[in-house]
Amino acid sequence: MQVRSSTNVPEPVTSRTPLGRADLLASSVIRETRRAGFSLDSVTAVGSIRRFAPDIGDVSLLGIAAAARHGQILKAFARLPVVSEVKAAGSRDITIRTGRGDVTLHLAVPEQAGAALLWHTGSRAHVDLLRLRAQRAGLRFDDGILSRAGEAAVVDCAREEDVYAALDLPFIAPELRSGDDEIDAAERGTLPILLSEEHIRGDLHMHSNWSDGRNSIADMVSAGKQLGYDYLAITDHSERAWSSRKLALTDIQKQRDEIDMLRSRVRGIEILHGVEVDIMADGSLDFDDRVLEGFDIVLASLHDPADQDHLRLTERYLRAIRHPLVNVITHPANRSPAVSPGYNVDFDRLFEAAAQTGTAMEVDGAPGHLDMDGRVARRAVAAGVTVVVDSDCHRVESLSRQMRFGVGTARRGWLGPDHVLNTRSVTDVHAFVARKRARR
Ligand SMILES: [Zn+2]
Ligand SMILES: [Zn+2]
Repeated sequence: MQVRSSTNVPEPVTSRTPLGRADLLASSVIRETRRAGFSLDSVTAVGSIRRFAPDIGDVSLLGIAAAARHGQILKAFARLPVVSEVKAAGSRDITIRTGRGDVTLHLAVPEQAGAALLWHTGSRAHVDLLRLRAQRAGLRFDDGILSRAGEAAVVDCAREEDVYAALDLPFIAPELRSGDDEIDAAERGTLPILLSEEHIRGDLHMHSNWSDGRNSIADMVSAGKQLGYDYLAITDHSERAWSSRKLALTDIQKQRDEIDMLRSRVRGIEILHGVEVDIMADGSLDFDDRVLEGFDIVLASLHDPADQDHLRLTERYLRAIRHPLVNVITHPANRSPAVSPGYNVDFDRLFEAAAQTGTAMEVDGAPGHLDMDGRVARRAVAAGVTVVVDSDCHRVESLSRQMRFGVGTARRGWLGPDHVLNTRSVTDVHAFVARKRARR
């Protein structure tokens, strides 16, 4: 049989830092600068962290402060408790080594904050295209500063919007700055309306201590309520899942009783009793239909090592997608950023089947997945697939952080609120499940 296009081959993964770890390092250094009382107007993570890239080359921060304070800030940065060594230092930058990796701090003045933010956020390809555009407009965009060509005077760009406006472009969101077709789209006025965290009304994928989650269902529900969600689904692992702890068949009713008890006690948020059922080697599901019917929503996934060939994996997924009780395929590539590229599956065939059967595909915000990857998600919605964006959270502390990663990853795929099931009401979620079940 003919092998499909090379776009089905996952991108190679290099020895880079996964987004989750890079983001933690950046946030902890930012916290230290605050604790040390740095006289910075602001400090933010830039580079690929700000673009929600799944894996990160360099962890870098941008600090904004008046030029007169730069020398003092750089000195104080070198003395932070976390620093084991200063690797490089200039008049506007410093790179330190910490026990968890290197971090570079760039500095810029407030009048150039937007130009510097854009410059240090990248991607290099996006910035290079803007530089060319600047040249054509008689401007120079260099080293985080926009100026008139041939003149020393700089153009004030306190906000990124000011740089884009000077180049006759609308603002382009960081997640879109890949250097592919976003500038063309900006020029044509066809940039998408992007999904944002405020659009998310519920989270349809999380684990409790009934399987490998750390917290009780009550804890997860109260954390979801604090985030302002209208609903959430508890989706523990099925009996034979590739996970450390699973939900036994004999425990399902007990879990349902606990959820019923919470439903009567907790107001203002609807709890869906879901499951993340493993797809077996032959494409069948770990729980039988009679059991699956009892759940409000069924997520299906593969967790095992990618040791099956392209065709068998694809067929295995297709059987699950066509199953009338499967509503969402979670983390379809089962990849691990900076560690494993995940499965080599025929996404185009999966998307075609998902769109036909009314099955959603997931953008999973767990830093160990970030899957579907933005580009793959973009292909999914182009094929008419409904997407869910979930935290796949295993502890209350990461509920909002992992949803933020999920939304960032979805934005990299140009996804808008209309593409995403969990921007809709819980009634719409129930209807989505009911529609597929009615086709039996
Ligand atoms: Zn999973
Ligand atoms: Zn999960």
